[in-house]
Amino acid sequence: MKKLQFLGLLALSTIIFTSCFSDIETVSSEPNKKDEHTKVVNIYTDRHYDVDVELYTQFEKENGIKVNVVEGKTQELLERLEKEGDNSIADIYFTADIARLFQAKDAGFFQPSNSEILEQNIPSHLRGEDGSWYGLTKRARVIVFSKDRVDPTQLSSYEALANPEWKGRVAVRSSANVYNQSLLASIIANCGVDDSEKWAKGVVANMYQAPSGNDRDQVKAIYAGKADVAIVNTYYVGKLLNSDDELERIAGEAVSIYYPNQEGRGAHVNVSGVGIIKSAPNKENAIKLIEFLSAKSSQTKLAEANYEYPVNPGVKASEVVQSWGDFKEDTTALSKIGSLNTTAIKVFDRAGWE
Ligand code: FE
Repeated sequence: MKKLQFLGLLALSTIIFTSCFSDIETVSSEPNKKDEHTKVVNIYTDRHYDVDVELYTQFEKENGIKVNVVEGKTQELLERLEKEGDNSIADIYFTADIARLFQAKDAGFFQPSNSEILEQNIPSHLRGEDGSWYGLTKRARVIVFSKDRVDPTQLSSYEALANPEWKGRVAVRSSANVYNQSLLASIIANCGVDDSEKWAKGVVANMYQAPSGNDRDQVKAIYAGKADVAIVNTYYVGKLLNSDDELERIAGEAVSIYYPNQEGRGAHVNVSGVGIIKSAPNKENAIKLIEFLSAKSSQTKLAEANYEYPVNPGVKASEVVQSWGDFKEDTTALSKIGSLNTTAIKVFDRAGWE
């Protein structure tokens, strides 16, 4: 990944922008919060997509505002924000899943904002009421099923995966994963704690093995004939189908996507999104950048690159994603789902979901 660097700030502070998987370097003792000569916006991100960098470069050209990127792992960035406190140079925190956005919000890292453009471009259930965070790309957590062994008429809802007919046939990753925590939080929001706990116990009883691996591995378990259905994020199917690895492509071909709960509340959706940092030295520029990322042309690029859905209702998904068909999404406010994260973790524990 391309390294972005400050233009005129290096004399005063040393920030090293690192590539995808290396650890981030620490800011010097005197972080330069504002440069009088260069307009900047500073973004802390745990994403490592080329499309993000392309869009930042385009934003720089169009607006004359330099985008400084600090990449790191989620926990590293959160610890860094904690350590830096009000001295942080960060304007924006960019991460995946409402559970992570809420972790930052609960830690007091965000501040409210106002933007008519963002209110227009992003549906209300995909952003914070107070404008402290905004979803920028959307994914659904769905059921995928074996084309060979499952007739889709046997499928209906997340809830039905707890039924005995699925015994030994369900593949799903561990409860430590935020995608699962948010899915369970959405079930709690819609069905209450007691029914959600029964559901989680039912799914545990139906797992083909104790949870292990990531979403792609669950699809591979179906291909290998170990499981018949799996719970995964939609974009992983796109990634598998377009993988450089032939085995991944074959695994992707072995499954179809099923959007659950279409007769009821709809399929659970989540976002990758941004929060505006409380001490943001360049808040106005931050809002400008988020507005840019929510606009039609950026939304098309973001959605194309990662097989996600645009959050902007005026933008179409990529062809591959469109080929999976339209679906009804659960419009429960993600802020509610984020606030139920701790409850979800406790329910998983009680249900014995490893
Ligand atoms: Fe992911």
